[in-house]
Amino acid sequence: MNKFRSMLLSVVALLSLCGCLNFSDKTDPKIRRVFCWGMIKDEASAARYAAAGVTDIRVRSRQELMWVQKYGMTAYCNTITPSGPHPQVLSPEEEKYHRYINGLDLPKSTPNTERKKIINQRRREKGHRFGGDRLNPVDTLNVNSLPCFGCDTDFAFTGRKIDSILKKAVPGVQGIYMDYVGYVNHRGCYCKGCLERCQKFLKSRKLADTPENRDLFYQEQLISYFNRVVDYIKAKRPDFKIVAHIYPEFEPNPLYGYLTGADYCGETVSWYFQWSPEKIAKYTTAVVNRKQLAPGCVGIPFIGVSTNPRSSLGYKSPADVEKELQIILRSGGDSLMVCNGDSMIAPGYFEVFQKYCSPQSR
Ligand SMILES: [Zn+2]
Repeated sequence: MNKFRSMLLSVVALLSLCGCLNFSDKTDPKIRRVFCWGMIKDEASAARYAAAGVTDIRVRSRQELMWVQKYGMTAYCNTITPSGPHPQVLSPEEEKYHRYINGLDLPKSTPNTERKKIINQRRREKGHRFGGDRLNPVDTLNVNSLPCFGCDTDFAFTGRKIDSILKKAVPGVQGIYMDYVGYVNHRGCYCKGCLERCQKFLKSRKLADTPENRDLFYQEQLISYFNRVVDYIKAKRPDFKIVAHIYPEFEPNPLYGYLTGADYCGETVSWYFQWSPEKIAKYTTAVVNRKQLAPGCVGIPFIGVSTNPRSSLGYKSPADVEKELQIILRSGGDSLMVCNGDSMIAPGYFEVFQKYCSPQSR
């Protein structure tokens, strides 16, 4: 028996030496890479982001780049958002809701603090979800409007915008962030151009004019635009890495990131409003496993964190965030994307991220 035990121990020791068994990783898994949507304010904040486990963050100046590099993080320039010739068009019902939750009907003379208070109350009242996790039959984004990117058919608007961002990029940054490529109402745009292209799409594929088939058109328009942005940036800056968040949510297919050419694609596994542990685990597993389907695009679990209990943007305590990180790790996630980024350095939250996020380089 003793002989058998010592043989077994020798085999285990040998496997450990070869790196075949890594007990510390199995018992104490960590998140190795963290893409943060926060901004650097000063050197102290750069140091604190790094200590919280952030590995990737945007910078606006040479000074910020120096701080980011000093603390071992990777720097990105600005965020590219869609551009087009006119705003997206909503249905009359969506338009009415949109104006209400964004206070677009309020008199211009309404003082800012009063305006914010009213908007906050209205969003709570309606169960507004800030572009993800829709609860009600109608929900729209918390911005005044987004341009109809589908109508930027010659890419003139978006091309000019990308050129301008790349021109202003601080030398030394290694990529660009990408956001807001999506529909204000989570489904589509009803402008003349989009409606015409949709009909053409249905006819060319001999598809009936049903909501499901229209979703197919809007998904194709979305992904094709997304990848056109990626290709344009890569043509100008082949060295650049593209970090995206799939947002606002495309309801017919929320996890379409694996169809995009982004290098790192954040896909929501937990929105600002608390999701059940089962849903977080299910979404994380889907995002992480899609790595194999699209080797060029790495799926990154995205979590939304609001630290303000009075905000209509939901609230998570540090203990709530800790539970979510544990679920993500248990579900195979070893990377993370976080917004609001500054939640990572807020007291109480900082300690949680520091505990679970430990980049390999440190
Ligand atoms: Zn449109």
